[in-house]
Amino acid sequence: MALTGKTALVTGASRGIGRAVAERLAADGALVAVHYGRNDTAAKETVAAIENAGGQAFPVRAELGVEGDVDTLFEQLTAGLDGRGLDILVNNAAVIDYGDSIEAITPEAYEQVMAVNLRAPLFVTQRALPLLRDGGRIVNVSSGVTWFAQPEIVYAMSKGALNVFTRSLARTLGPRQITVNTVSPGITETDMNGWLQQPESAAGVAAITALGRHGQPDDIGDVIAFFASDEGRWVTGQVLEVNGGLWLG
Ligand code: NDP
Repeated sequence: MALTGKTALVTGASRGIGRAVAERLAADGALVAVHYGRNDTAAKETVAAIENAGGQAFPVRAELGVEGDVDTLFEQLTAGLDGRGLDILVNNAAVIDYGDSIEAITPEAYEQVMAVNLRAPLFVTQRALPLLRDGGRIVNVSSGVTWFAQPEIVYAMSKGALNVFTRSLARTLGPRQITVNTVSPGITETDMNGWLQQPESAAGVAAITALGRHGQPDDIGDVIAFFASDEGRWVTGQVLEVNGGLWLG
């Protein structure tokens, strides 16, 4: 129970990778704020799964990318923390727009992707800073699309900027012994990747991955748990590709 007595906020924790992160941090002993946008059922399931496994969690509903999003999130977070500080922040929530090509992207679609994937992590982090205890941890969830080319151009741009955000913030927060790192998943089986349900798509991904399969959410959650733990104390400002050896050739 390496995180007993610690608290964590995981954005986008109702489903997919965020849920795996929330479950793992709670299993390690942290009280976890399970943030989500709209899917009450999924968030309830995540909180229930954590509690049934003997952990502690509470839901935080706040749609990111809309007016007042950070205020809404922190009202519920501070109520749930009930006077405790925050030790771990995982900026995980994001959206992808599969029509997000250079030919098709619109200013409105650009604003939406950037608001959720980049503006929200920035301002959630800013608001978290007074709550974050010295020695805390921030993990930003990026993507392999920062180094291999995909048509979804704004999604990739948002994640590239997140990597830069990590490096800059790591320097700023170093004096407080707060580490800031990026975990960059490869192709992982979540709702975001519904196309992986097709056997030929899964086989195609396996063929370009050294370890011969696509990722599962807990493949990512376990690595984020390392960064969140005391064992990760001497790593900051880094981007770690967690992808089973995607495109190793
Ligand atoms: P999912 O689509 O499975 O889950 C997204 C989560 O984010 C949900 O909890 C959802 O809440 C929440 N969310 C989405 N939009 C908003 C919003 N506007 N406001 C609040 N919450 C929101 O995503 P993944 O688990 O696949 O992705 C998690 C992270 O991993 C993302 O940063 C993604 O970019 C990254 N990633 C994923 C990869 C993959 O292959 N899956 C590959 C590389 C990176 P709700 O349930 O309420 O909708």
